[in-house]
Amino acid sequence: MPAQKLDGKALAATMRGEIATQVQARAAAGKRAPGLAAVLVGEDPASQQYVKNKHKACHDVGFTTTVHRLPATTSQAELLALVAQLNADPAVHGILVQLPLPKQIDGEAVIRAVAPAKDVDCFHPENVGLLAAGHPRFYPCTPHGVIQLLTRNGVSLAGKSVVVVGRSNIVGKPLALMLMQKPTAANPAAADATVTVAHTRTSDLAAVCRGADVLVAAAGVPEFLTADMVRPGAVVVDVGTNNVNGRWCGDVHPGVWDVAGWVSPVPGGVGPMTITMLLHNTLAAAQQIDG
Ligand code: NAP
Repeated sequence: MPAQKLDGKALAATMRGEIATQVQARAAAGKRAPGLAAVLVGEDPASQQYVKNKHKACHDVGFTTTVHRLPATTSQAELLALVAQLNADPAVHGILVQLPLPKQIDGEAVIRAVAPAKDVDCFHPENVGLLAAGHPRFYPCTPHGVIQLLTRNGVSLAGKSVVVVGRSNIVGKPLALMLMQKPTAANPAAADATVTVAHTRTSDLAAVCRGADVLVAAAGVPEFLTADMVRPGAVVVDVGTNNVNGRWCGDVHPGVWDVAGWVSPVPGGVGPMTITMLLHNTLAAAQQIDG
């Protein structure tokens, strides 16, 4: 029997409805709408599409949203000046600087310039430190989307053996932190799992992956995770978003659907959840800043 689908598109629609309801309740109480400012430097087509999708998602749930488009020749000083202006703007609760940035700009300096209270991507070192310490101000969007996709489909993680393939600062590393931590009132998405993080130096990756009850593929290698790497009945989350000759595919080979118990599709799995968790963080930022 083929695997069941971890349907991120459907769950994202449900969660965006919940967020829109909270925005309406805030408006009824006389509170300002949550505001997200997106900054796009240059004309990278994928970045343009990501920002367009985020802008529409914000608009659909009732946020105010602005996109600041800067030319690829923008200097670091010019970008930092815009970030400072957004940090000081009371109508802006969340700031998103779309990565990657052009070569003349130090991305780390820009991440550090965003006010931590408005860092809805959860990239600022202060927020990464709070997450690592188990007292998150925000959860990073893609890892949080993965955990919501699992738990809201009834996949329990406590005590499970989870293998994460990938250790980037954006996906693998923070996801491993969230999965392994003990849940508390301050850290409700922590998952109490037993976590293994695999990467390019992992020996016998297939054997490591076969040990997983829950397997997360976040390597950015098209369809590298094949059926022989998956224990029958395991839960497989595909974070990969790869464009191969104009076709979008994940890191998971289609043959995995014949072996696994659950699989998240690409597109329609983690992608819509990532944007939804950005909305969640922007609402949380508005609640933290405005009450
Ligand atoms: P990244 O920064 O390139 O990191 C990839 C990680 O995977 C690295 O840790 C790398 O190991 C590991 N890796 C690469 N090839 C491997 C292999 N053959 N075997 C084992 N490990 C391997 O990528 P990322 O930013 O984390 O993104 C990963 C994928 O997720 C990409 O396809 C990206 O487009 C996608 N993504 C999707 C969303 C979404 O919302 N759906 C969000 C973010 C990212 P080393 O550390 O040893 O190099």
